[in-house]
Amino acid sequence: MSDNQADPCRSCGACCSFAPHWPAFTTDSDPDIAAIPLAYVNAEKTGMHCNGNRCSALAGKVGDATTCLAYAVRPDVCRACKPGDAECSLARQSFGLPALETV
Ligand code: SF4
Ligand code: SF4
Repeated sequence: MSDNQADPCRSCGACCSFAPHWPAFTTDSDPDIAAIPLAYVNAEKTGMHCNGNRCSALAGKVGDATTCLAYAVRPDVCRACKPGDAECSLARQSFGLPALETV
C-alpha cells in the first residue's frame, strides 16, 4: 500500500494478498521489525505472517474496501509499492482488477 494509503489503495489491497513471500523484511532494521505487533509477524521473523497469500495485517475485502492494521509500522516493501507501478499492476491483475494509469 502506498505511503498515504489514499485511494485507490483503500479500495484495493491486492498487493497485500498476492503472495506469502511478498511482505518480507528486506531492508527493515531490527527495531523497525520489533515495532510490528508479533501477531502479524511470521514465526521465522522474516516477514509478515500470511494466511494463504494474504497478509494477516490486512483487513477488509480485496477490491472493495481494505486497510492495513499495521500501517504505521508496515515493512519497507509495503512502503515501496506504489499505485500504478509494475508490482501493483501484477497484483491487481491477479484479482481481475484493472491496472492503474498513474503512479
Ligand atoms: S496493488 Fe496497488 S492500488 Fe492496490 S493496494 Fe497495492 S499499491 Fe495500492
Ligand atoms: S503490512 Fe500492511 S501494507 Fe504490508 S502487506 Fe500487510 S496489510 Fe499490506
